[in-house]
Amino acid sequence: MDKVWDVIIVGAGPAGMCTAIQTAKHGLSTLVVDRQTEPGGQIFRSAGSSSMIGKLGKDYAAGLPLVKQFLNCGAQFEPGANVWDIAPDRVYYSQQGHSHFVRARQVVLATGAMERPVPLPGWTLPGVMGSGASDVLLKSAGLLPEGPVVLCGNGPLVLQAAVHMHEFNVPVSAVLLTGRMGNIMHAMKHASGILARPGYFLHGVNMAAKTMLHQKCVLGAHDVSISESEKGLQVHYATRSGKHRKLDASTVLLHEGVIPETRITRLARLRHAWDQKQRYWHVDADKWGQTSAPGLRTAGDIATVRGAAAAQAEGSLVGLDICRELGQLSLADRDREALPFLRIIKRCQALQPFLDEYFAPTPAMLQPHPDAIVCRCEELTAGHLGEVIREGSYSPNGVKAQARPGMGTCQGRICGQAVAEMIADAHGLSMENLPQYTAQPPLFPLRLGELVEMPSPSELM
Ligand SMILES: Cc1cc2nc3c(=O)[nH]c(=O)nc-3n(C[C@H](O)[C@H](O)[C@H](O)COP(=O)(O)OP(=O)(O)OC[C@H]3O[C@@H](n4cnc5c(N)ncnc54)[C@H](O)[C@@H]3O)c2cc1C
Repeated sequence: MDKVWDVIIVGAGPAGMCTAIQTAKHGLSTLVVDRQTEPGGQIFRSAGSSSMIGKLGKDYAAGLPLVKQFLNCGAQFEPGANVWDIAPDRVYYSQQGHSHFVRARQVVLATGAMERPVPLPGWTLPGVMGSGASDVLLKSAGLLPEGPVVLCGNGPLVLQAAVHMHEFNVPVSAVLLTGRMGNIMHAMKHASGILARPGYFLHGVNMAAKTMLHQKCVLGAHDVSISESEKGLQVHYATRSGKHRKLDASTVLLHEGVIPETRITRLARLRHAWDQKQRYWHVDADKWGQTSAPGLRTAGDIATVRGAAAAQAEGSLVGLDICRELGQLSLADRDREALPFLRIIKRCQALQPFLDEYFAPTPAMLQPHPDAIVCRCEELTAGHLGEVIREGSYSPNGVKAQARPGMGTCQGRICGQAVAEMIADAHGLSMENLPQYTAQPPLFPLRLGELVEMPSPSELM
């Protein structure tokens, strides 16, 4: 019979690495698969090899010791392994053109988050990308965007990108901040949470101050669209006083916050919950990562987006509880070892309401202009989808059946939430009650030959 691992972890970001460090330390056979060629996830991407390691601040540099600890922890790491199907005791992945099937007593999904896709006219033009995508290029390849750059959005990653542009001398035409001015008032109700993580808070204030000092900032920018021009790109926007302005750019970086990437948890048919403040669906799991499917757990941003410190602590807790469940730790030992991680989570949770209010998405941004392409795979505009919705489509799967959004290769990764927001707005429905697109395996296109060549589960028994 083929090997049955004690634990398989999908994702070698901060959460997955910390889960593996615990399970391997306590003697459980641990396999970690990640589609990236190196461990690190989003925040510590390529930390083990990047030429940028000394140049992107201490947040990024903090990844190096963690990556080293993970690589030496005794877990087996499979890089370049893209998981395309999942069940409580099994994982299917594609690696270098070959698909594999592996089994485990416990499976952990630590697959992280993605930038919230917010369609606007012109966002599919060459030269327009997510500011997180630009961050990926910077960390993994030392690549900077061509200036002049226009940054547009809401969230800490916009500020981080603005600071990077200044530090690396990339000219920035303007930073268009789309957050609502009133957010600060709501956030201040939770100001006591700042005391729980003063250093983290001050780091954010520092990024905001540097952005304001070094870049031209437009607060409350709205009605943003992008068009092509002789010089490259032109960004059109309205100011708070309703004046229409335009800016030239070679690159436009968009960012409207980060949301859990739920395709894989939907594929596993896990129960999800809706976060009204940050407006995203996330898997419903307890503090030990246990989901609605026994044997299948989650850790990190896939469950709730709370940043790298929380992701590492959550990953450690999940690892410890797996050790308890599989008999490597007593309940008392699990609780004792969990204490420092629970304290970190408590501090992160205390600050989170402040951050969630301050960076709450702007409702108007979530209702795309009729000219905006919502489904990039099928090139469907908001105008067309809006008609289909108003004619009587009340669920994302219903709109999918009528007009094909979500039928392309990304399986609704990009359009899923935007379509749901449009339905909720048109019919006065609560997002909480809207079912998401049904996810189907494989999660991404595979060669048929790869499927045929894969040993079938029965051959392995
Ligand atoms: C684009 C982006 C950039 C970010 N940059 C920063 C930053 O600079 N600073 C900061 O503080 N926070 C940043 N964040 C937030 C950051 O994601 C979290 O703070 C933290 O990295 C979460 O850790 P995690 O382990 O939960 O997930 P991640 O770090 O996202 O790790 C998830 C891992 O799972 C892998 N994976 C996903 N799906 C599959 C699959 N199907 N098969 C195989 N492997 C898979 C990914 O390759 C990745 O390595 C960023 C988020 C995003 C989306």
